Amino acid sequence: MSLFNHPEYRSHEQVSFITDDTTGLKAIIAIHNTQLGPAVGGCRMFPYVSDDDALTDVLRLSRGMTYKSALAGLPFGGGKSVIMGDPRHQKTPAMMRAMGAAVEQLGGRYIIAEDSGTSPTDLRLVAENTRHVSGIEDNINGGDPSPSTAYGVFLGIKNGLKCVFGSEDLRNRRIAIQGLGHVGFHLAALLRQAGAQVLGSDIHQPNMARATRELGVIEVPHEDILSVECDVLAPCALGGVINKRSIPSIRASVIAGAANNQLEQDDDDELLLQRGITYCPDFAINAGGIIEVFHQRQGSTSAIRKAALEHIGVITQQILEQSRSTQRPPQEVAIAMAAEKLRTPAHQPAAEILKVS
Ligand code: NAD
Repeated sequence: MSLFNHPEYRSHEQVSFITDDTTGLKAIIAIHNTQLGPAVGGCRMFPYVSDDDALTDVLRLSRGMTYKSALAGLPFGGGKSVIMGDPRHQKTPAMMRAMGAAVEQLGGRYIIAEDSGTSPTDLRLVAENTRHVSGIEDNINGGDPSPSTAYGVFLGIKNGLKCVFGSEDLRNRRIAIQGLGHVGFHLAALLRQAGAQVLGSDIHQPNMARATRELGVIEVPHEDILSVECDVLAPCALGGVINKRSIPSIRASVIAGAANNQLEQDDDDELLLQRGITYCPDFAINAGGIIEVFHQRQGSTSAIRKAALEHIGVITQQILEQSRSTQRPPQEVAIAMAAEKLRTPAHQPAAEILKVS
């Protein structure tokens, strides 16, 4: 494993490798960019097969956070952390406290939050050793950012449809969702309310059954969901599902979902462009959760919060229009737009906004 030559290493400002023999903690914290403010990003716990898999994930995820916050106009940088291990069997309170000590050593350059495999309960343990934690108050949708994330993805889908079909009307459109968890379920609800037919798959049968029972989602076998004929494919489960193996068989006009890092490799957006599939970059449309958290903590009025969420639609439209007029893939356009925003300094210290005390 190498770092400076790693294919996913893109001038990350700082990458910290943490081991704590007493608690068994093995973690990596990646700070990609702090030009707009401290790096804010979740802590993922996952049973990575190798150190290299963990490093690849944290480098990609932290970079995505830089783009996400920049495009959303938030005064945050991009960072992420990963803990190597099975969250169901290997996580202990002592391990989470040790993670807190590691975050504290970074002096506020990284603000840790929840991600898959970690919960607000874990973050409270982290917070015993560091002030630099976000997401331990549970006044925001009961602590769940997913409804706002789903709303942003919903706006992304509508703009994708408008770009391809000239209308964002969802009536009788077929949308296929991979993963009916927190975000996928809320997204399915919004789409059904708007009159769309929703197809879905989830490897966790109770989630699939709930979506069918409560929302009328039509079940598709897991192995078929990426290639099912539909207007929009919405990956809401895992990263890396859009790749050189899956792209040839995708039968959707638009791809717009919540999962981070949907493209396995950067040049996969070029392949989608060649196939005439409109890709709405994940980091542009799945920012609803972090936008909501930011504005709630700012004490913004509900009108301001709503306008900030609606802005996801505006950004998506700008990305897709620029992509169309320049014939460049949307992801490439979105990264260039984010890079432009990185040149604008933050207006106020994010530590104040997040109320870390
Ligand atoms: P979640 O864990 O609640 O839901 C994911 C669902 O996908 C689960 O029901 C799981 O069973 C299912 N799944 C896993 N592998 C699958 C497969 N191969 N095929 C079909 N289903 C599969 O997670 P979530 O909070 O809904 O987040 C979904 C995705 O969106 C994640 O990639 C997450 O990183 C990303 N994301 C979430 C938020 C948020 O606010 N929750 C914000 C930004 C990005």
